Amino acid sequence: MKKNILTIILISFMLLINTTTVFAETVVFNWKTLKFHKPSCQWAKKCTMNCTKVDKKEAIKHGGKPCKVCGG
Ligand SMILES: [Zn+2]
Repeated sequence: MKKNILTIILISFMLLINTTTVFAETVVFNWKTLKFHKPSCQWAKKCTMNCTKVDKKEAIKHGGKPCKVCGG
């Protein structure tokens, strides 16, 4: 019985972590031009050479500026 409660707590924690991950905004960051895009942006799709998906905060920390087309 005690083990079941622990399992429920564990699952709740995992769900909480998942939710946090969903809310953390991922952007496509161009390390060359230091511009970041929404993953749905046409420029993000075109950028394959210098771009990686990072957290928006991470992109800003590295001096990133939002794209003028999608607004980051
Ligand atoms: Zn863009």
